[in-house]
Amino acid sequence: TARLIDGRSLAARVRDEVATQVASMAEPPGLATLLVGDDPASEIYVRNKRRLCTEVGMRDLHRHLPADVTQAELASTIAGLNADPAVTGILLQLPLPSHLRPADLLELIDPDKDVDGLTEASAGRLALGKPGLRPCTPSGVVHILDRAGVELKGRHAVVVGRSNLVGKPQAQLLLERDATVSVCHRHTADLAAITRTADVLVVAAGVPHLVGADAVKPGATVVDVGIHRTEAGLCGDVDTAAVAEVAAAVTPVPGGVGPMTIAMLLWNTVAAARLQRVGGTATV
Ligand code: NAD
Repeated sequence: TARLIDGRSLAARVRDEVATQVASMAEPPGLATLLVGDDPASEIYVRNKRRLCTEVGMRDLHRHLPADVTQAELASTIAGLNADPAVTGILLQLPLPSHLRPADLLELIDPDKDVDGLTEASAGRLALGKPGLRPCTPSGVVHILDRAGVELKGRHAVVVGRSNLVGKPQAQLLLERDATVSVCHRHTADLAAITRTADVLVVAAGVPHLVGADAVKPGATVVDVGIHRTEAGLCGDVDTAAVAEVAAAVTPVPGGVGPMTIAMLLWNTVAAARLQRVGGTATV
């Protein structure tokens, strides 16, 4: 049976590395988490991010704005954070209340402070192979593969999903690492026929247990990005127990990609500090 890749311990190692880097910096980086309203799930996510930010020695520059804040007020808050040299990274927690336009607000974030890597500028930098801040979930997946000792160069990586948040940047990051990359999505004709050719399979479709044992090549590495809350607990897009009979290695849900995503936020905040010091030309 497959090796279960322990995302929690890999993420803890990344956070240790971030803490070491922070300790060596003259000024600790500051992370501004921006929370609007009182969505309970968002509050939990932000609380976690702030706790880990403090644990690695960075400054927690949290802002909490009321649910009825206007687009203009939020825009001016972001402008203030862009201009504040103590603020290294800005994270706008989504979703926002329905009267706000999240896409327009995200675009206001200075790309050198865009620690979620979701602005057009960050997406463009990634597409062009320029230094910049990469989206946390797909870059976390590459860290998991690297740290688990999975070779990417010259191998066939298949990504299931093409969202701007995960699938699309995932494919670009794997290309950057010299994998041969195929991208599948909801219109792919015979999904299993393609995923069965993957040496490395990354599944980010948002469909519980979409990938079973028959969709996996013997000896493949399978990374499960999906998260679903069910009565039996959390599960992913991969039927982990079944796939573990075929694959060489698989990431569990929970305890796989999730913890690494938050670790990448901290990683990106250190990368942002470096990017700002050298005026956007550093390799991060
Ligand atoms: P999304 O809904 O925006 O995109 C899903 C993609 O999967 C689409 O491109 C769609 O074409 C494709 N797809 C859907 N059904 C398919 C099918 N039957 N066959 C092939 N492709 C199919 O979702 P997203 O934002 O990319 O997130 C995907 C999953 O990852 C969700 O479960 C989400 O909760 C999870 N997620 C986890 C983390 C984390 O930190 N672990 C972060 C982001 C997202």
